[in-house]
This record gives sequence, C-alpha cells and structure tokens, in this order.
Amino acid sequence: MPRRIQVRRSSIHGRGVFAVAPIAAGTDLIDYRGRLITHAEADRRYGDDDSGHTFLFSLNRHYVIDAGHHGNSARFINHSCEPNCETVLVESDDGDPKRDRVVIQTLRDIVPGEELAYDYRIDAGGRITRALLQCWACHCGAPRCRGTLLYRRRPSRR
Ligand SMILES: [Zn+2]
Repeated sequence: MPRRIQVRRSSIHGRGVFAVAPIAAGTDLIDYRGRLITHAEADRRYGDDDSGHTFLFSLNRHYVIDAGHHGNSARFINHSCEPNCETVLVESDDGDPKRDRVVIQTLRDIVPGEELAYDYRIDAGGRITRALLQCWACHCGAPRCRGTLLYRRRPSRR
C-alpha cells in the first residue's frame, strides 16, 4: 500500500498531517495510538498543564489515550471547525474497554496536499471560562470557525 499521509509543518499549528495521494471518503486512515491511562491519571498528570496541547484523546469512560507516550503520527492531526475527517470509536468485540480503538476516517474525498483535520470537541468538563477559551483558542481558519476547540455538549436525553 503506497503512503497516503505525511507529517509536515502546518499553518494551523506546529506540525500537521497531509495527504500525499488522493484518498476517498470513508477511508480508515490511521489509529490514534498511545499509552492507555485512566481519566484520574490523566487529571493527575496533566490537570495543571494549561498549554492546551497535550496529546490526550478520551477513548471511553474508562481510559484516555496518551499519545505523548508510544503515540503515532495521528497525534499531529490538527483540529478544524470544518473538518475533512472524523474520529470513529471501534468498540472491542469482547467488551474489554482496553481494546477499544479510535480510527481517524475521512469524511469526504481528499486531494493530495490537503491538510487532514478533525473536530477535537474538547470537553472541558464544567463551566467554560474565559481562561479556558483562551487556552483552547482555535486558529483553524475555517470560514465558520467557532473560535475554540472546546465543545458544548448538547443536553443529554437521559
Ligand atoms: Zn476553528
């Protein structure tokens, strides 16, 4: 299989991941890899880190993927408010939350040279403060950029 993606400098933020070949909509691009830690461990380790750029991905209610350790190039995929990719949770057949996976999938056809991005939908937990908004400011450049990587969850149906 020829190489489809490549990590290089991004105008959005730091490094980014770019298509180097045409990629069809609905393609599984890459798993988000890293060490599994519990949510409590993530809070302990990174709770005071307000840089807003730790490589954490909330896998399920049990675990967080810490791509700062054993991460792959998926950790360089930037956020966009109008993304061309999405993340899909693939639950393990045996119900073991440790074996759930996150796959980055294309939402539409991608041409070579396009930067790949998905909506981070950072869940800050409680109230969204001005400090949090500043910390998670968005510079994605999309026409309908919402200005933040934070995501307000819709009220639950339960
Ligand atoms: Zn944005």
